[in-house]
Amino acid sequence: MKLLSYSNQGESCLGAVVDGESIAELTGIADGFPDSMLKLVQYWDAWKGEMPSLIERAPRRLMSEVQIEAPIPDPPRDILCVGKNYRDHVNEVKALGYGSIPSHPIVFSKATTTINRSGGVVDLSADPTDTTDYEGELVVIIGKGGRYIDERDAREHIFGYTLINDVSSRNLQARHVQWFLGKSIDGYGPMGPAVITETAAGDIRDWRLQTRVNGELRQDASISEMIFTVPEIIAAISRYMTLLPGDMIATGSPSGVGAGQEPPDYLKAGDEVCVSIDAIGELVAKFV
Ligand code: MG
Repeated sequence: MKLLSYSNQGESCLGAVVDGESIAELTGIADGFPDSMLKLVQYWDAWKGEMPSLIERAPRRLMSEVQIEAPIPDPPRDILCVGKNYRDHVNEVKALGYGSIPSHPIVFSKATTTINRSGGVVDLSADPTDTTDYEGELVVIIGKGGRYIDERDAREHIFGYTLINDVSSRNLQARHVQWFLGKSIDGYGPMGPAVITETAAGDIRDWRLQTRVNGELRQDASISEMIFTVPEIIAAISRYMTLLPGDMIATGSPSGVGAGQEPPDYLKAGDEVCVSIDAIGELVAKFV
């Protein structure tokens, strides 16, 4: 099942992707049906059994008629992010002073006010250092929250998966020491376009994550190349803090970022960046 948030004439709506180009409109489909993706995540146990029949009888609309929004624009807290989770990426940013292969997951956060929609605009003038870079990443959305989640049980706690472009100002990351500000400029977190549910995802290690800048392939990695797997990340974080329904975890970027080019090649006005995984779709951001 592939779900999406969208707006239609100013109204926020929830739908399911029924083929490449149609949406089954789920807003108001049944009494008490959640009116947002976050609420659907929170009440998933009550609704998941009925979803196939609700989708079956929902009215249809062409995706091209609506504006696709970020899947969860209002998460319960900042996006949790894993840094340096692909070996080739660690090696390419070594020269920037970001050190060696981590022995434990590096976890930082990114402000909710970064969240942007697929097809949205990212304003580069907000970065006075002109070192804005892209990072295509797989995002895990937590369904059932919890603490001390065992790796073997981790998938039972996953609602689904989406994409993020973890847009980052490299100089702000470095000069403020903590990465938070350099990762948290308003609008620097395009997400989406859709959420594939855990039950429909299959083996995510087979997925290929790609990022294109103006059509040129820059990042191309298998999810199986992660240093810390998704279950390991969930176990590591929940060892210390309670994960909440709707928490989003960005799982790290493969190699091929602009900072890793020689010389570094940062984003400029007019660039278009597309992050994709076939099972999820294409997340596009326009930089101005
Ligand atoms: Mg990142």
